[in-house]
Amino acid sequence: MSEQLEALRKKLHSAISQRQTIEMTRQEQVSTLAQFIAKLSLVCKGIDLELDNRLASFRKHLQQGAHFQELGPIIAELTTLLARHEAKIEAQLRQLHTCVNQAGVNLQKRQGLPNESRRTLRDLLNTHLHEVQTPLDFIPVFARLVSIYDQVLSASNATDGKDNAEEVAHFANELTQLSTEVSVQGEFIEQMRALKHNINAATEFEQLLAASIELTRIIVTSLSRERRSAQHFLAALNESLSELQQLLANTVDKSRQLDSKISAVYQQIDENINQLSQHTELATNIAELKSTVESRLASLTAQLINKEQLEAEHRDALHQGLQSMQSRVQNLEQQVQQYEASLERQRLMNLQDGLTKLPNRLAFDERLDLELKQCQRNGAPLCLVVIDVDLFKSINDTYGHSAGDKTLQVLASAMKKAIRSSDFIARYGGEEFVLVMPNVDLENVVLPLEKLRASVKSIPFKFKDKQVQITVSIGATQVKANDTALSAFDRADQALYEAKHAGRDRLVVKQ
Ligand code: GH3
Ligand code: MG
Ligand code: MG
Repeated sequence: MSEQLEALRKKLHSAISQRQTIEMTRQEQVSTLAQFIAKLSLVCKGIDLELDNRLASFRKHLQQGAHFQELGPIIAELTTLLARHEAKIEAQLRQLHTCVNQAGVNLQKRQGLPNESRRTLRDLLNTHLHEVQTPLDFIPVFARLVSIYDQVLSASNATDGKDNAEEVAHFANELTQLSTEVSVQGEFIEQMRALKHNINAATEFEQLLAASIELTRIIVTSLSRERRSAQHFLAALNESLSELQQLLANTVDKSRQLDSKISAVYQQIDENINQLSQHTELATNIAELKSTVESRLASLTAQLINKEQLEAEHRDALHQGLQSMQSRVQNLEQQVQQYEASLERQRLMNLQDGLTKLPNRLAFDERLDLELKQCQRNGAPLCLVVIDVDLFKSINDTYGHSAGDKTLQVLASAMKKAIRSSDFIARYGGEEFVLVMPNVDLENVVLPLEKLRASVKSIPFKFKDKQVQITVSIGATQVKANDTALSAFDRADQALYEAKHAGRDRLVVKQ
């Protein structure tokens, strides 16, 4: 008899150890989920403060070995936050939409707009604008586009159709600068090139208006593509999180139901064993004992079979739930990786000038801010330099815009080679470059800048079999303790202006 009891005990022990195995698997899954959430937090960082916090607390819960039951509500909150983030993007987009739309409508009212521009504008307002879905970074570019375009409009109105060549050149220049700040990919590169060519060749406001509209169209269409992928990511993430939450709820639910069934059976078994030992003690003869034991054993066996079935069911349910979660998490992880890569691409694109591959104006602004702070903190000298190619327009006019582009590339790489590695050079826009020189004061800035000027001058350019010499004018200043980025830049610009007026191909330094 005691052998049978022993066997039963063993069975109970093995049942308990099986449950422990399940618990361990569950913990493993939770830690996979935790790793994933850690990754997700990195990618989503900075998108939304509350989202950041929620992800952090989710991570903490997971690290502390939280139970599935506790994760459900947190995932639900995350889902809501992601949805809210999407709504925020939508609102910003609507604002942008209104702004561009208003400018477009104003322009439509204008008389004497060429048919071609009118058609493009209508197309832009009716179709492209509705498709726009733009990352936030591009909003300032847009705002500037609209403002230039407004300027063109009012200047054009003021001159009563008689275009002022100087003003046309001024706006053309601004428009060119703006278009160099927009990096595009794929088929848009060629469209952008053609557009720059048109801007350069423009002699009338009307042509510049058409170019502004074309620039808007290129930005809008290329952006809507980029944006769609970001939007797609958030939507997919959102959906996957909801699914994950549902799965979790189901698993927890099922687990609970089975748990209570199993403990009921355990209780019955326990009772049976108790009764069995009581009856054994109370039995007065062998026959009675035998029949009691037999009937008790029969019912115990049935209960054990029932228990094993229930436990198997429990294991399967948990296993299934965990496996679906695992595959969801893997799926999510893939999406996050893809999005990470596209964000990195976009970040690089936003900081690099497409033509010369030098850092662009945005990168320069960031860097100058950083250097200014550092120099104000440690008192080390810092020089700011503006470099402008001399009479560059004539290169375009005489040898064509692509020759101009190529020239800019060669100049950029020559200047990059001529400076020290601690100096930072960027394309500020058009044919203007800026240079930040940390730990250099005005006295020591002359020699390296004269060297740079000479090395540009000595490049043997050859266009249409003609030897051409290209020079640059340079304005330099040293940053003062109370300078802002703007005040220092203005001084360097003033020095450049003086260099131009003194006959170009020279360096002017300004205290
Ligand atoms: P200055 O010596 O006074 O600086 O004369 P400039 O001709 O260089 O100055 P201006 O500002 O009148 O003209 C600059 C020209 O640079 C106008 C524009 O067509 C040209 N440009 C600006 N960006 C680009 C570009 O990306 N590619 C090409 N090919 N030309 C550009
Ligand atoms: Mg110039
Ligand atoms: Mg210039």
